[in-house]
Amino acid sequence: MDISTAYKDNNYKIHVARNILENRLNTYTEQYESVYYIIDENVYDIYKDTKLSFIKSPLVVTEGESFKYVSPLMHTMEELLAAGIKRNSLLVVIGGGATGDAGGFIASIVLRGVDYIHVPTTLLAHDSAIGGKTAINSEHGKNLIGAFYRPKAVIYDLEFLDSLPRAEVLSGFGEVYKHAMLNSPELSEELVNITADSIDVDELPAFIIKGIETKMKIVIEDEHESGSRKFLNLGHTLAHAVEYKYKIPHGQAVMLGIIAALYISNELNGTDFNIGNHIDYMRRHGYPVNLLKEMDIDEMMQLMMKDKKNHRNDYISYIVFKDQNTPEVMDIKIENLKKILAALKERI
Ligand code: NAD
Ligand code: ZN
Repeated sequence: MDISTAYKDNNYKIHVARNILENRLNTYTEQYESVYYIIDENVYDIYKDTKLSFIKSPLVVTEGESFKYVSPLMHTMEELLAAGIKRNSLLVVIGGGATGDAGGFIASIVLRGVDYIHVPTTLLAHDSAIGGKTAINSEHGKNLIGAFYRPKAVIYDLEFLDSLPRAEVLSGFGEVYKHAMLNSPELSEELVNITADSIDVDELPAFIIKGIETKMKIVIEDEHESGSRKFLNLGHTLAHAVEYKYKIPHGQAVMLGIIAALYISNELNGTDFNIGNHIDYMRRHGYPVNLLKEMDIDEMMQLMMKDKKNHRNDYISYIVFKDQNTPEVMDIKIENLKKILAALKERI
């Protein structure tokens, strides 16, 4: 399946299918004088003798999030320059969302910008590879240094997902679930039905593609996040606090944040999301729902108030549903939010 972006200019393709990497990549690399590869070390270890054996002299970089810092980034840029990267070289970045974020940022600044292709290898990266945001972390917080920089293509070879650890499957699935909810109640229901007994990555390609399309539609409407792109933060306000405090994978925290968002929607907008069903479903699949019971509400509020997406004092900006179909941004008074989260805590 090929999906094309629909920006005004600088469009590119997102190729999604099993076992497409080498062939697809060849159609791009032949247009460049030289090609450089940045690969997550875990991914390289697993695939160096198989899918990735065609790659000669890759730059194998430290795994996942540990690569998203200035020091490994500088080291890799110096290596690229030592190896002779030119403005008309292509950089191919192979790994999950973290490698993609930092590799894309390198592409945006080395020699003031070279072309790059992102090859996502995690379920979560169906989300991070779309939208053109690149970033690394600062000691002041996550993703605070970065740029908007679009790739020349995304080649999403779903075969990589076969080796994904279970915790990362659950994490990526959190964003698949979020995109289904932002797409339509029908799609969410279908997703819940198909995953009623187990979350099996082999059964997800249609939902991964829908997720990519949903995210793409929203980021094309609002690339720089002044309006509807905010909806992509569904579940994220509380998730960032929970993730920070309990050190659980991002998408797992998003699932918990979605429960809170639906509960708040019921309380403040009169929607009738079946919270009990959502909680049972997430528990059944191993999401740490009990953290919603354990959490210290004052501590979570403190963390949420630090979120860079909050602009008004005394209020927290939250993505909720106006009705079953329609997300909206709501500024909720801190005291009010505290009461609602305390009631949710009792409900778990
Ligand atoms: P990740 O890149 O850290 O990968 C998670 C772990 O899985 C790592 O240990 C990695 O080595 C390993 N791994 C990767 N692919 C594998 C495979 N095929 N088989 C086995 N192991 C594999 O995590 P992620 O969840 O993909 O991405 C999270 C990052 O994405 C965060 O840094 C987040 O900030 C970023 N993100 C960015 C955007 C954006 O719009 N740019 C959106 C969402 C998230
Ligand atoms: Zn997210």
